[in-house]
Amino acid sequence: MDEKKILVVEDNVMNLELVSDLLEAHGFRVVQAQSGATAIALAEKELPDLILMDLQLPEMDGLEATRWLKRNQLTKDICVVALTAHAMLGDEEKAREAGCSGYIAKPINTREFAEVISGFLDGDPHTAEE
Ligand code: MN
Repeated sequence: MDEKKILVVEDNVMNLELVSDLLEAHGFRVVQAQSGATAIALAEKELPDLILMDLQLPEMDGLEATRWLKRNQLTKDICVVALTAHAMLGDEEKAREAGCSGYIAKPINTREFAEVISGFLDGDPHTAEE
């Protein structure tokens, strides 16, 4: 079984559980982190197929955590998809500059979510809004 492993980084526990439940319902394996530092440590240990990275995190934010991941030989090739609330102007550009393959706006569209994730896993990144 080629079960894809996804590291979900989100400091809001309700969102973390919502996203994790959605992914698990679609057959993905989920690893959770609530901070950038934990995300980096878990990414090295678990080598997930994809990382969903909340940009608004306390202390080290998601952009900084992504830059760390992209500078690390072990984790630089893992696809990072930004999760951001109310995509502000310039957020997508900032996310891409940090090394994200794209972003998903919060609140997430629960019907399309798994499909969008599969698209990123298939190397067909695109930006999902709403
Ligand atoms: Mn957050």
